Amino acid sequence: MPENLDQFEIAVAQVRKSAEILKLDSGMVEILSKPKRELTVNFPVRMDDGSVKVFTGYRVQYNYSRGPCKGGVRFHPNVTLNEVRALAAWMTWKTSVMNLPYGGAKGGVIVDPKKMSRNELERLTRRYTSEISIIIGPEKDIPAPDVYTDSQTMAWMMDTFSMIKGYSVPGVVTGKPLSIGGSEGRSEATARGAMYVARAAAKTQGMDTKKATVAVQGFGNAGSIGARLFSEELGSKVVAVSDSKGGIYNKNGLDMRKLLDHKAKTGSVINFTGSKAISNEELLQLDVDMLVPAALENQITEKNASSIKAKMIIEEANGPTTPKADEILHKNGVFLLPDVLANAGGVTVSYFEWVQDIQSYFWSLEEVNQRLETLMSKAYNDILPIARKENIDMRTAAYVYAVKKVVDAHRIRGLWP
Ligand code: NAD
Repeated sequence: MPENLDQFEIAVAQVRKSAEILKLDSGMVEILSKPKRELTVNFPVRMDDGSVKVFTGYRVQYNYSRGPCKGGVRFHPNVTLNEVRALAAWMTWKTSVMNLPYGGAKGGVIVDPKKMSRNELERLTRRYTSEISIIIGPEKDIPAPDVYTDSQTMAWMMDTFSMIKGYSVPGVVTGKPLSIGGSEGRSEATARGAMYVARAAAKTQGMDTKKATVAVQGFGNAGSIGARLFSEELGSKVVAVSDSKGGIYNKNGLDMRKLLDHKAKTGSVINFTGSKAISNEELLQLDVDMLVPAALENQITEKNASSIKAKMIIEEANGPTTPKADEILHKNGVFLLPDVLANAGGVTVSYFEWVQDIQSYFWSLEEVNQRLETLMSKAYNDILPIARKENIDMRTAAYVYAVKKVVDAHRIRGLWP
């Protein structure tokens, strides 16, 4: 039977697996397997040609037992309610893994932003924000950027929410530009967090990062900054990278600064001087120390998992490994740092941004990075003993760690009424 890749079913299956280890009762499992609140909005937007189009958007608040909800907003033609549910569930576990005082949420609008003008996108963003304004706010639910939304989108959201309130509310969204309460270090936080976790893991796994080779799939925001940081701050040799047009390989290592220039000039990593062309599939199967999937979901599956030769996988992307592939990798002794931990640097610095906005007191880049490293290493070093004690993979251990804290919050708060 082919693998079931419905994202929400995967998300629920992961919760159920950790619930068995935690011996949770069926009532608690049911609470954790369903989103707390879902809002669907159908809203009109005036297009540049004067016509009116109706768009559909969602905001799902999965769980807020540990604090206000947190999670990005995605603009994409393939957005579905089930996908938003899954992403909101993952945010719940990710904030708990990182010990952030948040629950999890996610939003999305079914739209192809590449087919819209900047003015149309601004009107769409503002109307979507006003539609979901009844459930968001610094104490309720704090959106952030995700696929095809960015700091400009967040600035429009912050402005719209502030206009409704009649005063400026910077803490309503994170990932904002610095000029309106953004945080230093936010743009490279995801990749930097992944690098800190890889460094912590290398220490406990007996890997010398200065001698390690790295392959990175995807060369966008997460992947390209990640590749540079692994090279510059860990001293590792990045031997292969790829993007949607193809991959490149050089066994002696790729010069990151020159490669970033090449990508900026040509729009892709392919045809980089001194490198050999490889396919994305070949990249995943390279004999390297660290493999960093930083592109799309479902890249490592039951079909290719047994061909993976990397010693360690650091998931910068969300959901790059399927549940069946997880089992194969664990059996083969591949040490996998799961997305809920490895790419949680972004939401962690988002949390720092919200704290700074609420206090109206802003930190230096050094303070942000140092606090990020502290939280990333703590999460890693808390989860590792669970994996060792229970003889489970790091993803399951991360879920056990995260789910337990959400369960503790439910139990201590009690059931109302
Ligand atoms: P991005 O759009 O900036 O980059 C995606 C990259 O993947 C591009 O270089 C693209 O060419 C490449 N790509 C697309 N299809 C590919 C294929 N078939 N093979 C190889 N490469 C391919 O996106 P991003 O922000 O870097 O996000 C990448 C992943 O990281 C996503 O899963 C995202 O959810 C996750 N993530 C990102 C952040 C963040 O702060 N940017 C935070 C958490 C998780």
